[in-house]
Amino acid sequence: MNKAILEVTNLKKYFPLGGGFFKTPELVRAVDGVSFTMEAGKTLGLVGESGCGKTTVGRTVIGLYKPSAGKILFEGSDVFSAPKADKIEARRQMQMIFQDPYASLNPRMTVGDIVGEPMDIHRLAKGRKQRQERVQHLLNLVGLNPDHINRYPHEFSGGQRQRVGIARALAVEPKFIVCDEPISAVDVSIQAQIVNTLEQLQEDLHLTFLFIAHDLSMVKYISQRVAVMYLGKIVEINLSSELYAHPVHPYTKALLSAVPIADPPLERKRKRILLEGDVPSPINPPPGCCFHTRCNRAIPICKEEIPEMQDLGNGHLVACHNYE
Ligand code: SF4
Repeated sequence: MNKAILEVTNLKKYFPLGGGFFKTPELVRAVDGVSFTMEAGKTLGLVGESGCGKTTVGRTVIGLYKPSAGKILFEGSDVFSAPKADKIEARRQMQMIFQDPYASLNPRMTVGDIVGEPMDIHRLAKGRKQRQERVQHLLNLVGLNPDHINRYPHEFSGGQRQRVGIARALAVEPKFIVCDEPISAVDVSIQAQIVNTLEQLQEDLHLTFLFIAHDLSMVKYISQRVAVMYLGKIVEINLSSELYAHPVHPYTKALLSAVPIADPPLERKRKRILLEGDVPSPINPPPGCCFHTRCNRAIPICKEEIPEMQDLGNGHLVACHNYE
């Protein structure tokens, strides 16, 4: 692996729930001991069912949430214990593209101000003229008409609004971007275009992406490595091509068995693994392996011991007592 831009170690994020004067709040264990490393200029896909904690990982990594425990090193420095000036600089270099482009853009601001505001905060443009030129350059870069700088978000389509969100993230010249389900709120016909734009930008600007999604086929397309999450934990990480061809964790197998194959004879033969039961509550996760209540390969130890992450070589990691 080349130089790591981001190293996340044993990251935990718990949210208090309820509680009162005489009552200790319960804890929602949204992220419960997640570790991964990201290589500069590459994409790591983060997948899993809704509520598995993938968005919380992204938000905690870029500092929208304070971690409950764990370490986040960005280019070798601890993002949370760094001096204030370094923290601000790290924040500039770590940006996020949000899932819902309509909710994340201020409807009262023009696109010029939406994209220009982060530049103002970080003092990246000298004067109005340079600011306008930079905004127009960014609009052009993400495939929008630079003459639309004075339009409002409601004057754009869903796909165009997501492009505005991408331009806003790029406005402060980041190195690392969390793409939080960036295509799930746009039409299917537009999704591939957005993904192609992101890929082109990655190549041109040497960006690193943490790509969060539940559309497994799109993740396969854009990511070099993929991490699979279940109930706040990463259960398997591998190279994208390897993970899709040879998953070993029972949960990864079940998840991938639901991905349609674009080959009718193969698709007809495909055997779907149906998971039984519901995802347990992150307030009170089951003891041992948190997947044992739904796993078809569970053995007695699974109910007692949390499986350690095992290194199977070539960057393939799996947390399972009885993987195949
Ligand atoms: Fe299934 Fe046990 Fe592996 Fe958990 S540790 S995934 S319960 S086999």
